[in-house]
Amino acid sequence: MRALTLVAHGGLEQLRVQELPEPTIKSPNQALVRVQTAALNRLDLLVAAGLPGATLEFPHVVGSDGAGLVDQVGEAVRQFRPGDRVMINPTLSCGECPACEQGEHSLCARLRVVGEHCAGTAAEYVVVPAENLAMVPTAMPWAQAAAFSLATLTAWRMLVTRARLEAGETLLIWGIGGGVALAALQIAKLIGARTIVTSGSDAKLEVARGLGADVALNHRNADVVAEVRQHTGGRGADVVADSAGEQTWTSSLRALRRGGRLVVCGATTGPMVSLDLRRLFWHQWSILGSTLGNRQEYAEIVRHAAEGRLWPVVDRVVPLAEALAAFARLQRGEQLGKLVIEVAQ
Ligand SMILES: [Zn+2]
Repeated sequence: MRALTLVAHGGLEQLRVQELPEPTIKSPNQALVRVQTAALNRLDLLVAAGLPGATLEFPHVVGSDGAGLVDQVGEAVRQFRPGDRVMINPTLSCGECPACEQGEHSLCARLRVVGEHCAGTAAEYVVVPAENLAMVPTAMPWAQAAAFSLATLTAWRMLVTRARLEAGETLLIWGIGGGVALAALQIAKLIGARTIVTSGSDAKLEVARGLGADVALNHRNADVVAEVRQHTGGRGADVVADSAGEQTWTSSLRALRRGGRLVVCGATTGPMVSLDLRRLFWHQWSILGSTLGNRQEYAEIVRHAAEGRLWPVVDRVVPLAEALAAFARLQRGEQLGKLVIEVAQ
């Protein structure tokens, strides 16, 4: 099969499209999926660069998001059959640890991610546990189906479960071009929250306004903190969603109201920040981390998608042979929405 693989750690130069043997089902609960589309995530850039403690077998098939047709199922699989149109939840949990028993799969002691710890979706075939599959909503095209799972699930847990965003509250979202940020905007609208979004690109801000952003700020020339205060009667945002890290950390805290929640699901501009603990306790802030989501949260977003909500914004769809250019676009942060690779020919 044709696959987009990483041949060694060291960044995007190590990516190659090559022929690999097709994977086979190794346990009765697995399914073999004939991939139609795969979507890129910033996680792929981290995997390519080499995450601390990562031990991959090379060549490693990249990609955490994908959609396709069920090709074969293991003998214990009842809920899917060959030919079903499915999308893949990349959260792999052990099912046995205390967190899994409590239904908190993204807190699993042995949490793994498709494409990060095992073979990914950017190949003609991938094997995953059948419990990680969901039916693609009937009207949803393959591109959106591949782009859906990781970003929407991450944004859902971040805002709904962790930050407990409520109707009427104000949410600040940095960097509205990314998949998680765009999903966060859609989820905030669904909840009935007000949204203030930022980008360094006026074109992206225009699209965000079209998607319902209440205030759109170009962070290259606007004083985001002052604008947030102005739009919240001087109080500050109830919730700030930040995946940028070092570059936005100080402003995120300064934009937060007393008692506000800062929720973090990434660190694209760097992971190390400092914190004045006196401000933390005096303002009674909550600083929350969030990663992926549990199966109940995934079922919830799939239900919304089936009813026509939370469909991801797709930046562009490229053939497998042009995947490297798509990765370069992701690395430069030029995309508006998800980059999708057409795997099936
Ligand atoms: Zn577990």
